[in-house]
Amino acid sequence: MRYRPFGRTGYNVSALSFGCMRLQDDPALNEKLISRAVERGINYFETTRHYLNGTCQHRVAPGLKGKSGGIIVSGKEGISPDKSAYHFRKEIERQLDILGLDHFKFFQVGWFSWGMMPHLLKRGGVLDAIRRAQDEGLIRFVGFTGHDTPENFTRCIETGLFDSLTVPYNMINRQYEPVIARAAELGLGVVAMCAVAGGVLTSPSDTLRKAIGMDLPTTAMALRFVLSNPNISTACSGMSTLEMLEENVRTIADFDPGQVDFTEMCQGLDRLRDKLGSNFCTACRYCAECPAGLEIWRLMGIWQHWKVFGLETWAREALRQLPAEKKPTMCTQCKACEEKCPNRLEVSERLKELATLM
Ligand code: SF4
Ligand code: SF4
Repeated sequence: MRYRPFGRTGYNVSALSFGCMRLQDDPALNEKLISRAVERGINYFETTRHYLNGTCQHRVAPGLKGKSGGIIVSGKEGISPDKSAYHFRKEIERQLDILGLDHFKFFQVGWFSWGMMPHLLKRGGVLDAIRRAQDEGLIRFVGFTGHDTPENFTRCIETGLFDSLTVPYNMINRQYEPVIARAAELGLGVVAMCAVAGGVLTSPSDTLRKAIGMDLPTTAMALRFVLSNPNISTACSGMSTLEMLEENVRTIADFDPGQVDFTEMCQGLDRLRDKLGSNFCTACRYCAECPAGLEIWRLMGIWQHWKVFGLETWAREALRQLPAEKKPTMCTQCKACEEKCPNRLEVSERLKELATLM
């Protein structure tokens, strides 16, 4: 395993970290998986009570038993207007109790956004609970996760309140790249989640291979791309099988980021996107209420993954999984959506093309 500094915390974190949201219903397998991950050198486990219908941390705990010494386990709790310091504190204690730990090296404010800042800062609110838990040694460092705009996340990290942030980052979604760079500049640890874009980056793509100059399966390229960014502390992967774990560990162990040119990779990916210019669907959904009942933004996303990033196998499978009434063949070519689209995209033509993949 390779390790990287985790921002200014003084911890070194494994380049591959374990997202615990995909553990299975099999307790014996989960225990083996977590314990094998520790053996392989993974030292960061991202958990919350709220994953897997409230069972995530119960599934993690047996594998960590007796091994949590040098391990960073993060817990996570959401924030809302009515969340008080009392409730947040109770949740920290509850998650520690389930995991069998006496403290969290990291605790995340989950599902956070700039709009939640007043609820974090209010008297008797979440930050009061966090600072008190830090004073009492229940939490060492605090981070946040969420899906706000890059501009708003930059404002969040510039408050100086946080030691880390966890954001989606991968070859086909690089919108947080500037925030990640700013976070590293400010000394925050950065956890990249969704390195394989929720499974999209598991399908073969010659287009992506050429763009980033790696001749590897897409999943391996996806992990290596994320770790080529020097501002990323760790790539967090949601693993559910021993094979997946071993494959990911191999991908990272054999990889020296010093041997690749990250800027060149980014330029290669930029060139792919630039082919569409401003004709990119931003998933804004202004075109909603299709008379045929189609989820246009979803179909346009599939078209783009196919046409821009060459992920044809994934696109075929995504279309196969759609219910019959949501497939692109249901488009009546009425073009009502095109009038509402701020980018004036030729939705009906793209859906016609997409239908040829079925
Ligand atoms: S052109 Fe197709 S996708 Fe667009 S509104 Fe009409 S039926 Fe829906
Ligand atoms: S309005 Fe245009 S850009 Fe927005 S989701 Fe629809 S097709 Fe995409």
